[in-house]
Amino acid sequence: MSANPDWMLRRAKCWVGDTLCSRGGELSAAHQAPDRGHQLVGAVCLQLLGATGDAVARVAVEQAEGDLVERRLHRADLGQDIDAVTIVVDHPLDAANLPLDTAQALEQLVLGGGVAAAGGSVGHALTIPPPGKRTTRLPPVDQPIFDGHHDALTRASADRLVGGRSDGHLDLPRARAGGLVASIWAIFVDGPGAELDFGNGAAGGYDLPLADELDHAEAAGGATAAAGRLLALERHGHLRVARTIEDLDAAADGGLPAAIMHLEGAEAIDQDLEALDQWHAAGLRSLGPVWSRPNAFGHGVPFRFPSTPDTGEGLTAAGRALVARCNALGIAVDVSHLNTRGFWDVADTTDAPIIASHCGAHALAPASRNLTDDQLDAIGASDGIVGIPYIVDFLRADGALDRATPLSTVVAHIRHVADRIGTHHVGFGSDFDGGDIPDEIGDVAGLPRLLDALGDGGFTSEEIAAIAWGNWRRVLAATWR
Ligand SMILES: [Zn+2]
Repeated sequence: MSANPDWMLRRAKCWVGDTLCSRGGELSAAHQAPDRGHQLVGAVCLQLLGATGDAVARVAVEQAEGDLVERRLHRADLGQDIDAVTIVVDHPLDAANLPLDTAQALEQLVLGGGVAAAGGSVGHALTIPPPGKRTTRLPPVDQPIFDGHHDALTRASADRLVGGRSDGHLDLPRARAGGLVASIWAIFVDGPGAELDFGNGAAGGYDLPLADELDHAEAAGGATAAAGRLLALERHGHLRVARTIEDLDAAADGGLPAAIMHLEGAEAIDQDLEALDQWHAAGLRSLGPVWSRPNAFGHGVPFRFPSTPDTGEGLTAAGRALVARCNALGIAVDVSHLNTRGFWDVADTTDAPIIASHCGAHALAPASRNLTDDQLDAIGASDGIVGIPYIVDFLRADGALDRATPLSTVVAHIRHVADRIGTHHVGFGSDFDGGDIPDEIGDVAGLPRLLDALGDGGFTSEEIAAIAWGNWRRVLAATWR
């Protein structure tokens, strides 16, 4: 790590307590405060000094054990029995408004082991550019990861995606810690009957009623606000809304993380499709005609286990027109949440590779949301892709809602698709923030453990690279035109 004369990091007197906290030493009471929600076993307080020697930020690197409220940097190795660290930055650079470069440099410091060095000596120098001046890039991660579907954008705590949030599965700090550099960000608008209760799943199996239709005007309003939330993250330099394949390549090369704007259910689009051009101009590059409810374009599949996905009518005439118009604009069409007839209507209409962003294999777990082998064959024949979700009650053979489900269950679905239609037609489609996932993954920062599990499952490093990144890149490159 090279020195930057403008910026210095030094050991600080602990500002949350009156005693100097130290790694392995006694912690000040404030670090231990119960309202912080987790038990700390060590902490280092640091000051970031500007060119004039004034402190511009204070940083606490805290070591915690057990079930953390905030887990941001799983890969840090700060000592034994430590499974994560939390970085808290306070005045005048609060975490939510921290310039991206500073956040990255701090993260690099921790991940690179610099904190241990800083802990023992005053004046340890590191490279941190002035706030607002983007001069550094993170080195490319060993294995860039692409995720085909998550719901982080429309969770209640989506206002804390930048600084990190204590709930849910995905925010920007945890995504970076997990090696996730590009993903499809779903825009989903809640409505009557959309609250899912898989509570009976523990007994194995569920049968949820189909949600009500969503009013077009209500959907358009909600979806527009969510799209604006994503565009604001881009405006403030936290990510790039991916419009071209070059945006994905830049993300894999250490640039800004790439976010693909996706409508999960097309209720926000009018039946004449006039709004579709507007959405494309705003950055929309992926769309699922339906969520699990009926709309003007087709019929979603209800959440049932065990159940065939063949539950009713398919696409309407407007639905077929929507698929054709998406093809023409270069917007990916996602068959997730369609029933069997809707799936085949898309397959008959589209001239792009078929994408199922978050569906498992019906042969292994007979959930209505999963794909039968003949559907998998059609996806393979179209040179498309299946993103395997981590949702336990979609993947388990008994349909139970059990977060103790091992990672090997996720790997088994990937293996089934790979053996059936080829390793080049399977990828990740987590459904983070959309359901219950295995504790072994925990959240997006746990993705390296999934890569390890693929290796344990017999996939070669070339195959893992294709599953984690290359397959999604190929399919989107063929679709965006
Ligand atoms: Zn979904």
